Amino acid sequence: MSLVTRDTQDELVHLISVDKTYGHGERSLEALHDINLTIKAGEFVALLGPSGSGKSTILRIIAGLVEPSKGQMLYRGKSLQGVNPHTAIVFQAFALFPWLTVQDNVEVALKPLGFSSLERTKRALSLLDRVGLDGFETAYPRELSGGMRQKVGIARALAVEPELLCLDEPFSTLDVLSAESLRGEIMELWVSGTLPTKSVLMVSHNIEEALLMADRLIVLDKSPGHVIGDISVKLPHPRRRKDRPFLQLVDQVYALIAGKTQTEAEELGSAPGEPGKTRALPHAPISAISGLLERVNEEFADRIDLYRLADELDEPLDDMLPSVEAAEMLGFAKVEAGDLTLTPLGQTFAEASIQARKEIFAARIRRVPVIRWIRSMLSAARDRSLHWDVFQTALALEFSPDEVERQLDTAVNWGRYAELFFFEDDTLYMDDPAAQPIATSSEQAGE
Ligand code: ADP
Ligand code: MG
Repeated sequence: MSLVTRDTQDELVHLISVDKTYGHGERSLEALHDINLTIKAGEFVALLGPSGSGKSTILRIIAGLVEPSKGQMLYRGKSLQGVNPHTAIVFQAFALFPWLTVQDNVEVALKPLGFSSLERTKRALSLLDRVGLDGFETAYPRELSGGMRQKVGIARALAVEPELLCLDEPFSTLDVLSAESLRGEIMELWVSGTLPTKSVLMVSHNIEEALLMADRLIVLDKSPGHVIGDISVKLPHPRRRKDRPFLQLVDQVYALIAGKTQTEAEELGSAPGEPGKTRALPHAPISAISGLLERVNEEFADRIDLYRLADELDEPLDDMLPSVEAAEMLGFAKVEAGDLTLTPLGQTFAEASIQARKEIFAARIRRVPVIRWIRSMLSAARDRSLHWDVFQTALALEFSPDEVERQLDTAVNWGRYAELFFFEDDTLYMDDPAAQPIATSSEQAGE
Protein backbone atom coordinates (compact mmCIF):
# COMPACT_ATOMS: atom_id res chain seq x y z
CA MET A 1 0.00 0.00 0.00
CA SER A 2 1.46 3.36 -1.02
CA LEU A 3 1.87 6.15 1.45
CA VAL A 4 0.97 9.59 0.24
CA THR A 5 2.92 12.45 1.68
CA ARG A 6 0.64 15.19 2.74
CA ASP A 7 1.30 18.78 3.50
CA THR A 8 0.76 19.08 7.22
CA GLN A 9 1.85 22.69 7.40
CA ASP A 10 -1.61 24.14 6.91
CA GLU A 11 -3.67 24.49 9.99
CA LEU A 12 -7.31 23.97 9.12
CA VAL A 13 -9.04 24.15 12.48
CA HIS A 14 -8.00 26.07 15.54
CA LEU A 15 -10.21 26.09 18.62
CA ILE A 16 -9.12 28.63 21.20
CA SER A 17 -10.42 28.37 24.78
CA VAL A 18 -13.82 27.22 23.61
CA ASP A 19 -16.64 26.84 26.14
CA LYS A 20 -20.13 25.74 25.25
CA THR A 21 -23.10 26.02 27.55
CA TYR A 22 -26.49 24.81 26.41
CA GLY A 23 -29.59 26.53 27.79
CA HIS A 24 -29.84 29.36 30.27
CA GLY A 25 -29.96 30.00 34.00
CA GLU A 26 -30.78 27.09 36.28
CA ARG A 27 -31.39 24.80 33.34
CA SER A 28 -28.05 25.49 31.72
CA LEU A 29 -25.52 22.76 31.09
CA GLU A 30 -21.84 23.28 30.46
CA ALA A 31 -21.02 20.83 27.67
CA LEU A 32 -17.48 21.99 26.93
CA HIS A 33 -14.90 23.77 29.02
CA ASP A 34 -11.73 25.40 27.73
CA ILE A 35 -11.21 23.34 24.59
CA ASN A 36 -8.01 24.11 22.71
CA LEU A 37 -7.18 22.07 19.66
CA THR A 38 -5.85 22.26 16.15
CA ILE A 39 -6.36 20.06 13.13
CA LYS A 40 -3.87 20.29 10.33
CA ALA A 41 -4.21 19.42 6.68
CA GLY A 42 -3.33 15.78 6.14
CA GLU A 43 -4.30 14.62 9.62
CA PHE A 44 -6.81 11.97 10.60
CA VAL A 45 -7.87 13.01 14.09
CA ALA A 46 -10.15 11.06 16.41
CA LEU A 47 -12.10 12.62 19.26
CA LEU A 48 -12.40 9.89 21.84
CA GLY A 49 -14.45 10.05 25.01
CA PRO A 50 -17.47 8.73 26.86
CA SER A 51 -20.93 9.72 25.75
CA GLY A 52 -21.78 13.20 26.97
CA SER A 53 -18.18 14.43 26.83
CA GLY A 54 -19.05 16.92 24.11
CA LYS A 55 -17.56 15.17 21.08
CA SER A 56 -20.52 15.89 18.83
CA THR A 57 -20.65 19.45 20.12
CA ILE A 58 -17.04 20.00 19.07
CA LEU A 59 -17.84 18.59 15.64
CA ARG A 60 -20.86 20.86 15.32
CA ILE A 61 -18.84 23.90 16.36
CA ILE A 62 -16.23 23.11 13.71
CA ALA A 63 -18.97 22.58 11.11
CA GLY A 64 -20.46 25.93 12.09
CA LEU A 65 -23.76 24.41 13.22
CA VAL A 66 -23.27 25.50 16.84
CA GLU A 67 -21.59 28.63 18.11
CA PRO A 68 -19.18 28.56 21.05
CA SER A 69 -20.43 30.37 24.16
CA LYS A 70 -16.90 31.60 24.75
CA GLY A 71 -13.64 31.43 22.83
CA GLN A 72 -13.12 31.10 19.11
CA MET A 73 -13.21 28.64 16.26
CA LEU A 74 -10.87 29.65 13.46
CA TYR A 75 -10.86 27.92 10.10
CA ARG A 76 -7.64 28.58 8.19
CA GLY A 77 -7.02 31.41 10.60
CA LYS A 78 -10.36 33.12 10.08
CA SER A 79 -13.53 33.13 12.11
CA LEU A 80 -16.61 32.11 10.15
CA GLN A 81 -20.24 33.14 10.18
CA GLY A 82 -22.75 30.29 10.02
CA VAL A 83 -22.17 26.95 8.36
CA ASN A 84 -18.57 26.07 7.57
CA PRO A 85 -18.47 25.48 3.79
CA HIS A 86 -15.22 23.49 4.04
CA THR A 87 -16.68 20.63 6.09
CA ALA A 88 -19.23 17.86 5.64
CA ILE A 89 -20.57 15.62 8.40
CA VAL A 90 -21.54 11.97 8.30
CA PHE A 91 -23.81 11.12 11.22
CA GLN A 92 -24.31 7.91 13.20
CA ALA A 93 -27.26 6.71 11.14
CA PHE A 94 -27.10 8.67 7.98
CA ALA A 95 -30.47 10.04 6.94
CA LEU A 96 -30.94 9.06 3.32
CA PHE A 97 -34.04 10.05 1.40
CA PRO A 98 -35.95 6.79 1.07
CA TRP A 99 -37.72 7.91 -2.10
CA LEU A 100 -34.47 8.68 -3.94
CA THR A 101 -32.13 6.20 -5.56
CA VAL A 102 -28.58 5.78 -4.27
CA GLN A 103 -27.26 8.00 -7.05
CA ASP A 104 -29.85 10.73 -6.45
CA ASN A 105 -29.11 10.61 -2.74
CA VAL A 106 -25.53 11.60 -3.54
CA GLU A 107 -26.40 14.12 -6.24
CA VAL A 108 -28.78 15.92 -3.93
CA ALA A 109 -25.79 17.31 -2.01
CA LEU A 110 -24.47 18.94 -5.17
CA LYS A 111 -27.65 20.71 -6.24
CA PRO A 112 -27.26 23.77 -3.99
CA LEU A 113 -23.72 24.23 -5.26
CA GLY A 114 -24.83 25.01 -8.80
CA PHE A 115 -23.22 22.08 -10.59
CA SER A 116 -24.66 21.15 -13.96
CA SER A 117 -26.70 17.97 -14.09
CA LEU A 118 -23.95 16.29 -16.09
CA GLU A 119 -21.28 17.26 -13.57
CA ARG A 120 -23.46 16.07 -10.67
CA THR A 121 -23.91 12.69 -12.29
CA LYS A 122 -20.23 12.37 -13.06
CA ARG A 123 -19.19 13.14 -9.49
CA ALA A 124 -21.83 10.91 -7.95
CA LEU A 125 -20.93 7.92 -10.10
CA SER A 126 -17.23 8.36 -9.48
CA LEU A 127 -17.71 8.51 -5.70
CA LEU A 128 -20.09 5.57 -5.58
CA ASP A 129 -17.51 3.63 -7.50
CA ARG A 130 -14.76 4.60 -5.06
CA VAL A 131 -16.73 3.56 -1.98
CA GLY A 132 -17.55 0.23 -3.60
CA LEU A 133 -21.19 0.83 -4.52
CA ASP A 134 -20.67 0.34 -8.21
CA GLY A 135 -23.77 -1.40 -9.56
CA PHE A 136 -26.09 -0.07 -6.84
CA GLU A 137 -26.69 3.36 -8.37
CA THR A 138 -30.36 2.73 -9.08
CA ALA A 139 -31.11 0.86 -5.85
CA TYR A 140 -33.20 2.42 -3.09
CA PRO A 141 -31.94 2.77 0.49
CA ARG A 142 -34.30 0.07 1.80
CA GLU A 143 -32.64 -2.43 -0.51
CA LEU A 144 -29.24 -1.84 1.05
CA SER A 145 -27.57 -3.21 4.18
CA GLY A 146 -26.72 -0.81 7.00
CA GLY A 147 -23.08 -0.74 5.95
CA MET A 148 -23.98 0.11 2.36
CA ARG A 149 -26.34 2.87 3.46
CA GLN A 150 -23.57 4.35 5.53
CA LYS A 151 -21.35 4.29 2.44
CA VAL A 152 -23.96 6.24 0.50
CA GLY A 153 -23.85 8.78 3.33
CA ILE A 154 -20.09 8.96 3.08
CA ALA A 155 -20.26 9.34 -0.71
CA ARG A 156 -22.78 12.15 -0.25
CA ALA A 157 -20.55 13.93 2.24
CA LEU A 158 -17.55 13.51 -0.06
CA ALA A 159 -19.44 14.73 -3.14
CA VAL A 160 -18.88 18.34 -2.12
CA GLU A 161 -15.16 17.58 -1.76
CA PRO A 162 -14.98 18.98 1.76
CA GLU A 163 -11.54 19.96 2.98
CA LEU A 164 -12.41 18.41 6.33
CA LEU A 165 -14.60 15.32 6.49
CA CYS A 166 -16.33 14.95 9.87
CA LEU A 167 -17.54 11.51 10.94
CA ASP A 168 -19.75 11.28 14.02
CA GLU A 169 -19.60 7.66 15.27
CA PRO A 170 -20.17 6.45 11.73
CA PHE A 171 -19.90 2.77 12.59
CA SER A 172 -21.81 2.61 15.84
CA THR A 173 -25.12 1.47 14.36
CA LEU A 174 -23.55 -1.25 12.23
CA ASP A 175 -23.04 -4.86 13.25
CA VAL A 176 -19.49 -5.83 14.17
CA LEU A 177 -18.53 -7.33 10.81
CA SER A 178 -19.97 -4.55 8.64
CA ALA A 179 -18.31 -1.96 10.86
CA GLU A 180 -14.98 -3.71 10.56
CA SER A 181 -15.13 -3.99 6.79
CA LEU A 182 -16.29 -0.39 6.31
CA ARG A 183 -13.43 0.84 8.53
CA GLY A 184 -10.99 -1.13 6.39
CA GLU A 185 -12.40 0.27 3.15
CA ILE A 186 -12.29 3.84 4.40
CA MET A 187 -8.73 3.42 5.58
CA GLU A 188 -7.67 2.07 2.19
CA LEU A 189 -9.16 5.11 0.49
CA TRP A 190 -7.58 7.44 3.02
CA VAL A 191 -4.13 5.90 2.95
CA SER A 192 -4.05 5.69 -0.84
CA GLY A 193 -5.06 9.35 -1.11
CA THR A 194 -8.30 8.57 -2.96
CA LEU A 195 -10.61 10.43 -0.57
CA PRO A 196 -11.34 13.88 -1.95
CA THR A 197 -10.69 15.50 1.41
CA LYS A 198 -7.61 16.88 3.15
CA SER A 199 -8.30 15.84 6.71
CA VAL A 200 -10.68 13.66 8.64
CA LEU A 201 -12.12 14.30 12.09
CA MET A 202 -13.85 11.28 13.55
CA VAL A 203 -15.83 11.01 16.78
CA SER A 204 -15.63 7.68 18.54
CA HIS A 205 -16.11 6.16 21.97
CA ASN A 206 -14.20 3.05 20.99
CA ILE A 207 -10.47 3.08 21.77
CA GLU A 208 -9.58 0.33 19.31
CA GLU A 209 -11.48 1.92 16.47
CA ALA A 210 -9.79 5.26 17.07
CA LEU A 211 -6.36 3.63 17.26
CA LEU A 212 -6.96 1.58 14.12
CA MET A 213 -7.72 4.66 12.08
CA ALA A 214 -6.40 7.93 13.43
CA ASP A 215 -3.01 9.67 13.42
CA ARG A 216 -3.93 11.52 16.57
CA LEU A 217 -6.32 10.88 19.41
CA ILE A 218 -7.78 13.74 21.36
CA VAL A 219 -9.14 12.19 24.52
CA LEU A 220 -12.02 13.85 26.34
CA ASP A 221 -13.70 13.39 29.66
CA LYS A 222 -17.05 14.76 30.73
CA SER A 223 -18.81 17.01 33.23
CA PRO A 224 -18.01 19.33 31.56
CA GLY A 225 -16.30 18.06 28.41
CA HIS A 226 -12.57 18.76 28.56
CA VAL A 227 -9.43 17.42 26.92
CA ILE A 228 -7.39 14.98 29.03
CA GLY A 229 -4.92 13.81 26.41
CA ASP A 230 -3.57 14.32 22.92
CA ILE A 231 -1.85 11.17 21.72
CA SER A 232 -0.08 10.81 18.41
CA VAL A 233 -0.32 7.39 16.77
CA LYS A 234 2.65 6.65 14.57
CA LEU A 235 1.80 3.06 13.62
CA PRO A 236 1.82 2.25 9.89
CA HIS A 237 -1.33 1.11 8.09
CA PRO A 238 -2.90 -1.37 7.90
CA ARG A 239 -2.86 -1.70 11.68
CA ARG A 240 -3.52 -4.96 13.40
CA ARG A 241 -5.30 -5.29 16.71
CA LYS A 242 -3.01 -8.02 17.97
CA ASP A 243 0.30 -6.35 17.22
CA ARG A 244 2.31 -5.61 20.32
CA PRO A 245 2.74 -1.85 19.69
CA PHE A 246 -0.98 -1.59 19.00
CA LEU A 247 -1.89 -3.31 22.25
CA GLN A 248 0.55 -1.09 24.11
CA LEU A 249 -1.22 1.98 22.78
CA VAL A 250 -4.59 0.51 23.76
CA ASP A 251 -3.19 0.07 27.26
CA GLN A 252 -1.83 3.59 27.32
CA VAL A 253 -5.11 5.12 26.25
CA TYR A 254 -7.32 3.20 28.60
CA ALA A 255 -4.94 3.83 31.45
CA LEU A 256 -5.30 7.51 30.68
CA ILE A 257 -9.08 7.28 30.66
CA ALA A 258 -9.35 5.01 33.68
CA GLY A 259 -6.78 7.06 35.56
CA LYS A 260 -8.93 10.12 35.18
CA THR A 261 -12.15 8.50 36.21
CA GLN A 262 -10.94 6.81 39.35
CA THR A 263 -7.85 7.10 41.45
CA GLU A 264 -5.54 4.12 41.56
CA ALA A 265 -6.08 1.58 44.31
CA GLU A 266 -9.06 3.61 45.39
CA GLU A 267 -11.10 1.60 47.89
CA LEU A 268 -9.74 -1.63 46.51
CA GLY A 269 -9.08 -2.79 50.04
CA SER A 270 -6.32 -4.97 51.38
CA ALA A 271 -4.91 -8.37 50.51
CA PRO A 272 -4.36 -11.31 52.89
CA GLY A 273 -1.45 -10.57 55.19
CA GLU A 274 -1.98 -6.82 54.98
CA PRO A 275 -3.56 -4.72 57.72
CA GLY A 276 -7.32 -4.49 57.44
CA LYS A 277 -9.92 -6.92 56.29
CA THR A 278 -9.25 -8.69 53.01
CA ARG A 279 -11.44 -7.46 50.20
CA ALA A 280 -13.44 -10.49 49.06
CA LEU A 281 -13.87 -11.17 45.36
CA PRO A 282 -17.46 -10.95 44.16
CA HIS A 283 -18.41 -14.36 42.80
CA ALA A 284 -18.98 -13.44 39.21
CA PRO A 285 -17.71 -15.65 36.43
CA ILE A 286 -16.15 -13.88 33.42
CA SER A 287 -19.07 -14.85 31.21
CA ALA A 288 -21.49 -13.09 33.55
CA ILE A 289 -19.36 -9.93 33.80
CA SER A 290 -18.82 -9.64 30.05
CA GLY A 291 -22.44 -10.54 29.33
CA LEU A 292 -23.61 -7.77 31.62
CA LEU A 293 -21.28 -5.18 30.06
CA GLU A 294 -22.26 -6.20 26.53
CA ARG A 295 -25.99 -5.99 27.20
CA VAL A 296 -25.78 -2.63 28.91
CA ASN A 297 -23.53 -1.25 26.20
CA GLU A 298 -25.69 -2.48 23.36
CA GLU A 299 -29.18 -2.04 24.62
CA PHE A 300 -29.39 0.55 27.31
CA ALA A 301 -27.45 3.56 26.09
CA ASP A 302 -24.77 2.95 28.71
CA ARG A 303 -26.97 3.75 31.69
CA ILE A 304 -29.75 1.78 33.29
CA ASP A 305 -31.67 1.40 36.50
CA LEU A 306 -30.53 -1.81 38.20
CA TYR A 307 -34.04 -3.05 38.90
CA ARG A 308 -35.03 -2.53 35.31
CA LEU A 309 -31.89 -4.29 34.15
CA ALA A 310 -32.63 -7.34 36.30
CA ASP A 311 -36.13 -7.32 34.90
CA GLU A 312 -34.95 -7.02 31.29
CA LEU A 313 -32.39 -9.77 31.76
CA ASP A 314 -35.04 -11.86 33.48
CA GLU A 315 -32.68 -12.52 36.34
CA PRO A 316 -33.19 -11.96 40.07
CA LEU A 317 -31.34 -8.85 41.16
CA ASP A 318 -29.43 -10.87 43.76
CA ASP A 319 -27.98 -13.12 41.07
CA MET A 320 -26.88 -10.15 39.05
CA LEU A 321 -25.24 -8.25 41.88
CA PRO A 322 -21.91 -10.10 41.93
CA SER A 323 -21.34 -9.13 38.28
CA VAL A 324 -22.31 -5.56 39.03
CA GLU A 325 -19.95 -5.48 41.98
CA ALA A 326 -17.15 -7.01 39.91
CA ALA A 327 -17.72 -4.52 37.10
CA GLU A 328 -17.49 -1.71 39.64
CA MET A 329 -14.41 -3.13 41.35
CA LEU A 330 -12.64 -3.40 38.01
CA GLY A 331 -13.56 0.11 36.93
CA PHE A 332 -15.93 -1.01 34.15
CA ALA A 333 -19.05 0.48 35.67
CA LYS A 334 -20.30 2.84 38.32
CA VAL A 335 -23.41 2.51 40.40
CA GLU A 336 -25.07 5.67 41.61
CA ALA A 337 -28.57 6.08 42.95
CA GLY A 338 -29.53 2.63 41.71
CA ASP A 339 -28.36 3.33 38.17
CA LEU A 340 -25.57 1.46 36.50
CA THR A 341 -23.36 3.46 34.12
CA LEU A 342 -20.56 2.04 32.05
CA THR A 343 -17.23 3.85 32.30
CA PRO A 344 -15.28 4.53 29.09
CA LEU A 345 -13.21 1.52 30.02
CA GLY A 346 -16.33 -0.62 30.39
CA GLN A 347 -17.58 0.53 26.99
CA THR A 348 -14.21 -0.24 25.48
CA PHE A 349 -14.17 -3.67 27.06
CA ALA A 350 -17.65 -4.45 25.75
CA GLU A 351 -16.62 -3.55 22.23
CA ALA A 352 -13.09 -4.91 22.22
CA SER A 353 -11.80 -8.01 20.46
CA ILE A 354 -11.27 -11.15 22.51
CA GLN A 355 -7.54 -10.58 22.91
CA ALA A 356 -7.86 -6.91 23.81
CA ARG A 357 -10.51 -7.85 26.39
CA LYS A 358 -8.12 -10.25 28.03
CA GLU A 359 -5.44 -7.58 28.16
CA ILE A 360 -7.75 -5.03 29.65
CA PHE A 361 -9.08 -7.53 32.16
CA ALA A 362 -5.58 -8.65 33.11
CA ALA A 363 -4.40 -5.10 33.71
CA ARG A 364 -7.42 -4.44 35.90
CA ILE A 365 -7.35 -7.57 38.04
CA ARG A 366 -3.63 -7.24 38.75
CA ARG A 367 -4.67 -4.44 41.11
CA VAL A 368 -7.34 -6.45 42.92
CA PRO A 369 -6.04 -7.41 46.39
CA VAL A 370 -6.63 -11.18 46.34
CA ILE A 371 -5.24 -11.48 42.80
CA ARG A 372 -2.28 -9.26 43.64
CA TRP A 373 -1.58 -11.45 46.65
CA ILE A 374 -1.77 -14.71 44.66
CA ARG A 375 0.59 -13.35 42.04
CA SER A 376 3.12 -12.12 44.54
CA MET A 377 3.07 -15.49 46.32
CA LEU A 378 3.55 -17.33 43.01
CA SER A 379 6.31 -15.08 41.75
CA ALA A 380 8.17 -15.50 45.04
CA ALA A 381 7.88 -19.28 44.83
CA ARG A 382 10.87 -21.15 43.47
CA ASP A 383 9.28 -22.60 40.32
CA ARG A 384 6.51 -20.04 40.28
CA SER A 385 3.91 -22.50 41.47
CA LEU A 386 2.42 -23.34 44.85
CA HIS A 387 0.20 -26.03 46.27
CA TRP A 388 -3.47 -25.14 46.67
CA ASP A 389 -3.18 -25.75 50.45
CA VAL A 390 -0.99 -22.71 50.88
CA PHE A 391 -3.73 -20.39 49.64
CA GLN A 392 -6.49 -22.24 51.45
CA THR A 393 -4.65 -22.03 54.74
CA ALA A 394 -3.97 -18.32 54.42
CA LEU A 395 -7.52 -17.47 53.42
CA ALA A 396 -9.00 -19.67 56.16
CA LEU A 397 -7.79 -17.10 58.68
CA GLU A 398 -10.42 -14.71 57.37
CA PHE A 399 -13.11 -16.67 55.54
CA SER A 400 -15.34 -19.67 56.24
CA PRO A 401 -14.28 -22.94 54.55
CA ASP A 402 -17.02 -22.56 51.91
CA GLU A 403 -16.08 -18.99 51.26
CA VAL A 404 -12.40 -19.93 50.94
CA GLU A 405 -13.33 -22.34 48.13
CA ARG A 406 -15.49 -19.75 46.43
CA GLN A 407 -12.80 -17.07 46.67
CA LEU A 408 -10.25 -19.37 45.11
CA ASP A 409 -12.66 -20.58 42.40
CA THR A 410 -13.36 -17.02 41.36
CA ALA A 411 -9.70 -16.06 41.50
CA VAL A 412 -8.82 -19.02 39.26
CA ASN A 413 -11.65 -18.24 36.86
CA TRP A 414 -10.46 -14.65 36.49
CA GLY A 415 -6.77 -15.50 36.49
CA ARG A 416 -7.12 -18.16 33.83
CA TYR A 417 -9.11 -15.86 31.57
CA ALA A 418 -6.58 -13.09 32.00
CA GLU A 419 -3.76 -15.59 31.46
CA LEU A 420 -2.11 -14.62 34.73
CA PHE A 421 -2.14 -18.01 36.42
CA PHE A 422 -3.81 -21.41 36.13
CA PHE A 423 -4.73 -24.37 38.31
CA GLU A 424 -3.78 -27.99 37.70
CA ASP A 425 -3.32 -31.04 39.95
CA ASP A 426 -3.97 -29.13 43.17
CA THR A 427 -1.33 -26.59 42.22
CA LEU A 428 -1.53 -23.01 41.09
CA TYR A 429 0.93 -21.98 38.37
CA MET A 430 2.03 -18.56 37.21
CA ASP A 431 1.09 -18.06 33.55
CA ASP A 432 2.35 -14.57 32.96
CA PRO A 433 5.54 -14.18 30.94
CA ALA A 434 5.69 -10.50 31.89
CA ALA A 435 5.99 -11.32 35.57
CA GLN A 436 9.60 -11.70 36.65
CA PRO A 437 10.31 -14.17 39.40
CA ILE A 438 11.17 -12.33 42.55
CA ALA A 439 14.60 -13.44 43.73
CA THR A 440 14.69 -14.59 47.32
CA SER A 441 17.39 -13.15 49.54
CA SER A 442 19.30 -16.45 49.61
CA GLU A 443 19.47 -16.48 45.81
CA GLN A 444 20.71 -12.94 45.75
CA ALA A 445 23.43 -13.83 48.17
CA GLY A 446 24.50 -16.50 45.67
CA GLU A 447 24.11 -20.00 47.00
P1 ADP B 1 -21.05 13.32 22.99
O1 ADP B 1 -21.14 13.46 21.50
O2 ADP B 1 -19.65 13.19 23.50
O3 ADP B 1 -21.91 12.23 23.51
P2 ADP B 1 -22.57 15.80 23.08
O4 ADP B 1 -21.76 16.85 22.45
O5 ADP B 1 -23.66 15.19 22.27
O6 ADP B 1 -21.60 14.66 23.65
O7 ADP B 1 -23.21 16.35 24.42
C1 ADP B 1 -22.47 16.93 25.48
C2 ADP B 1 -23.44 17.38 26.56
O8 ADP B 1 -24.25 18.43 26.08
C3 ADP B 1 -24.38 16.28 27.00
O9 ADP B 1 -24.58 16.39 28.38
C4 ADP B 1 -25.65 16.58 26.22
O10 ADP B 1 -26.77 16.13 26.94
C5 ADP B 1 -25.62 18.08 26.14
N1 ADP B 1 -26.27 18.57 24.90
C6 ADP B 1 -25.89 18.24 23.65
N2 ADP B 1 -26.66 18.92 22.75
C7 ADP B 1 -27.55 19.63 23.46
C8 ADP B 1 -28.60 20.53 23.10
N3 ADP B 1 -28.89 20.80 21.84
N4 ADP B 1 -29.29 21.10 24.12
C9 ADP B 1 -28.98 20.85 25.40
N5 ADP B 1 -28.00 20.02 25.81
C10 ADP B 1 -27.30 19.42 24.85
MG1 MG C 1 -22.21 12.33 20.10
